[in-house]
Amino acid sequence: MSGALRIGMDIGGSKTEAVALDEAGRVVATTRLHTTGGAAGVLDTASSAIAALARETGRATHEFAAVGIGIPGQIDRAAGVVKHAYNIGIDHLPLAARLAERTGLDISLDNDVTAAAIGAAHLMELRGTLAYLNLGTGLSAGLVVDGSPLRGAHGVTGEIGHLPVDPLGRPCPCGQRGCLETVASGSALRTFWPAGGDHPGRVLLSAVDAGDPDAAAAFGHLVRGAASCVRLLVLAMDPHTVVIGGGLRLLGPRLIDGIRATLDTWAADSPFLSELELSGRVQVLAADSPAAAVGAALAGAD
Ligand SMILES: [Zn+2]
Repeated sequence: MSGALRIGMDIGGSKTEAVALDEAGRVVATTRLHTTGGAAGVLDTASSAIAALARETGRATHEFAAVGIGIPGQIDRAAGVVKHAYNIGIDHLPLAARLAERTGLDISLDNDVTAAAIGAAHLMELRGTLAYLNLGTGLSAGLVVDGSPLRGAHGVTGEIGHLPVDPLGRPCPCGQRGCLETVASGSALRTFWPAGGDHPGRVLLSAVDAGDPDAAAAFGHLVRGAASCVRLLVLAMDPHTVVIGGGLRLLGPRLIDGIRATLDTWAADSPFLSELELSGRVQVLAADSPAAAVGAALAGAD
C-alpha cells in the first residue's frame, strides 16, 4: 500500500467506527471500538482508533495525511469545537486542537449526519442533490447540494427533527411540542411503546406480528412520521435522492415499503404531490455501510 492515506471517524454514543481511505477514496482499513464518554473518554477513543489503523496499515501515526471526524452535536468547523453532544457526555470540547496535540495530525470536525450524507453520496455514487434522513435515537438530516455539503450559518442545517408538526403533540426536550422527533425516532418509539424496552426497534416487528396493538400504533406513527420527513425534504430542497439511514432502517423492507406506500397514498390524493415522484426518490443505506466515517474523511480532505 503506497500513497497518502487519510482517516475518517464516526464517533457515536455507543461505538466508534474509523476507516483509512486511499487517494482514490477507497476504504483500505476499518476499525470499530466502544466509545468511552466524556471529553477525556472521547479523546482516548479517537487516539485508540488512529493507533489501530496505524497498526493495520503498517504505518506510523504521523504518516496519515489528515483525520476527519463526524460527531453528534453542534459543530464549529472553523474552531474545531463540538458542543452539546449530550449522548456522549460532551458539553463543549475543542476536539480538533486537543487531538492534534496528542497525535500531531491535522484534525477536522463535521456533524455526524452531514458526514453520513457526504459518505452516502460517495459510496452509493449518487450525483446531484442528496438528502440523508437519519432515523436513529434522534431524527435529523444531512444535505449535499450539487455535490457540496450544506452546513448553514450556525451548523444546524438539517435539524428537521425539531420542526413541530402537531401543536397538541408531546413535549419535546427542545422546549417545543409535537416535533417530528417525538413521532419518528428511536426515542419516540420508546415513548409510544414502553414495553419495547431500551432497544424497541429490535423487537418492534415481532410484537406487531404477535398482535400487540401498541406496537402496531407505534410502527404506524413511525412510518407516517418518516414519510412526512421525506415529503418535507423534497419540498424544501427538491433532492434527486432521499437516502434513509440510522439505526431504525434496520427494521428493513417493511419500514421502507411502508414509507413508500404512505407517500403514494398522499400523492394519490394530491395532483401537486403526484407530480413530485416522492416514493421513487427514496433509497436505503446498506446495513453495514461506513458512510459517516467515509464522509468525515472526505470532508477532512477539502
Ligand atoms: Zn423538538
